[in-house]
Amino acid sequence: MDDTYDVVIIGGGAAGLSTALVLGRARRRVAVIDSGEPRNAPAEHMHSFLSRDGMPPSALLEAGRAEVTEYGVRLVEGRVEGVEPGFTVRLAGGATPAARRIVVATGLRDELPDIPGLRERWGVDVLHCPYCHGYEVRDEALGVLGNVQHALLLRQWSDDVVFFPGDIEPSAEELERLAARGVPVVAGKITRIVVEGGRLRGVELADGRVVPRTAVFVMPRMLPHDAVLTKLGCRKSDGWVVTDPSGRTSVEGVWAVGNVVDPRAQVITAAGMGAAAAFALNHDLVEEEVVRALTIRSRIG
Ligand SMILES: Cc1cc2nc3c(=O)[nH]c(=O)nc-3n(C[C@H](O)[C@H](O)[C@H](O)COP(=O)(O)OP(=O)(O)OC[C@H]3O[C@@H](n4cnc5c(N)ncnc54)[C@H](O)[C@@H]3O)c2cc1C
Repeated sequence: MDDTYDVVIIGGGAAGLSTALVLGRARRRVAVIDSGEPRNAPAEHMHSFLSRDGMPPSALLEAGRAEVTEYGVRLVEGRVEGVEPGFTVRLAGGATPAARRIVVATGLRDELPDIPGLRERWGVDVLHCPYCHGYEVRDEALGVLGNVQHALLLRQWSDDVVFFPGDIEPSAEELERLAARGVPVVAGKITRIVVEGGRLRGVELADGRVVPRTAVFVMPRMLPHDAVLTKLGCRKSDGWVVTDPSGRTSVEGVWAVGNVVDPRAQVITAAGMGAAAAFALNHDLVEEEVVRALTIRSRIG
């Protein structure tokens, strides 16, 4: 695929495919390079996306890929290892397509606390986002690990929420807020998430107690897949690459959308960021083309 594109999009999740759809329909020459590991892959269903609520995440992407292909967008399975200024995209395996503009839509990685059982149940009954999966476990016996604000929030979905501080020590004020909201606190080191018969059954503490729960919420550490942006020199703030509202980074010609720049972006938000970037990016390309045409015209006479 050593061709030249108007835009190479790195990452083919909701953000990247949405960018590709708008640019394909704007008759741009576009390639999407995707390594096939979207963040929400462990979840069976995707929620809070108007008109797509409950759809399997893979079905949304499948539909998106079919749509962009209709407009001539090239889909490439592969991993981008780097981008040289100008731009030359370097794929694992050696291909080096060129692009006038780059969109990075590579998402993020969720790093979970090192508690046995958590990773195995991630996206099933170990959850993080109440807006994505809270409704599905409403009124159940819920546990919240290590984040007071998260526990106060989850109480919206169930009367039976237990807070497990684990390694953190809530302040007196936080304990008062939890008590006022009707959230009991069970202190102690968490040793594992108990899973029996293919279901989460409870939270085990170091003293051997098992507090029965059917779902557990935990806030992961979110780490952006932003190596390409960092290497290109994009400006960061608090560890995240900074963009303007259209997704433009501090490096000319480089745009970034979705979870790679915004950990709060849900699927619908990530898709919206992609569409907004495509508009702005196409205008940027048009401006370059007008300037080039004017230069040629002035040379001719
Ligand atoms: C368990 C779980 C459940 C969730 N459920 C919901 C839900 O119900 N509703 C909701 O709105 N949100 C949900 N989310 C959040 C949702 O996953 C994100 O909002 C969404 O994935 C962000 O889209 P994105 O396109 O930015 O990133 P992603 O969907 O993660 O896509 C990024 C893509 O880039 C690719 N990539 C990364 N690096 C490279 C590289 N170097 N080269 C090529 N390709 C690369 C990846 O393989 C991936 O395909 C959930 C998250 C989790 C963890």
